Amino acid sequence: MLLSGKVAIVTGGNSGIGKSIALALAAEGANIVIDYIADPQATEDLEGQIVALGDKAIGVEADVSKVAELQKLVDTAVATFGRVDIMVNNAGIETRTSVLDTTEEQYEKVLEINLKSAFFGTQIAAKQMIKQGDGGRIVNITSVHEDWPMPGNTAYCLSKGGVRMLTRTAGVELGPHGITVVGVGPGAVATPINTATMNDPAAMKTLDAAIPIGRMAQPAEIGGVVAFLASDGASYLTATTVFVDGGIMHSSPGL
Ligand code: NAD
Repeated sequence: MLLSGKVAIVTGGNSGIGKSIALALAAEGANIVIDYIADPQATEDLEGQIVALGDKAIGVEADVSKVAELQKLVDTAVATFGRVDIMVNNAGIETRTSVLDTTEEQYEKVLEINLKSAFFGTQIAAKQMIKQGDGGRIVNITSVHEDWPMPGNTAYCLSKGGVRMLTRTAGVELGPHGITVVGVGPGAVATPINTATMNDPAAMKTLDAAIPIGRMAQPAEIGGVVAFLASDGASYLTATTVFVDGGIMHSSPGL
């Protein structure tokens, strides 16, 4: 197993990509702190799945847009499992609003949940890892839209662009401490965040046609990449983004 005895925190960990990451890390032997903000039953079910894999899990209700609640996640990991080896900043939302119609409230909410949380999640986890003295792994779930415009989803793109530079800058700053910081940029993944698109057959047809692999990803196809990035095999990877997008960012009609 790649992550035996490691301790990981996964924000937004009880659904979609976060859940798949929690399960992939646990399948490699990690104990998991599952952050969640809604649906305690889903958290409890996931804890059961992780225990069935032979690992330990604890659900913690924490709003990642608040620094004190991010601190609570790290404090709980240390109190329960003794340390933090892997921090996955995954929680995120989108408003699907354009530059012309995004309100101040929408802007602030998206930036706080997607970017501020990753910034302070990185800071607080890194301080704990430095205290432990033997490095660590920080994985930020960004998006192809850290670099690739999505018209009609402006604040989301801004937030992910910010996470792109957080990953690069923090990766450089934390390298001397043996801490790697890597972004994972999914393309389209079949999760609750995409419910509207998945319920629209015409939109799905257009989307599938634009993806060289020809379909959306399943969440487990992102979780597996994160487990590898948290492992020794990825020890020299930092300050960059791994895109897991079925090739969509490089899709071309061949003209
Ligand atoms: P999701 O809606 O299932 O997951 C988002 C999670 O974040 C949910 O569990 C939600 O409860 C949680 N969350 C929201 N606000 C929170 C807060 N204030 N505090 C704590 N948790 C909070 O959707 P997902 O697709 O699994 O999204 C996970 C991440 O992947 C997001 O950062 C998203 O931007 C990114 N992403 C998703 C896709 C995709 O196509 N699904 C593509 C690229 C990137």
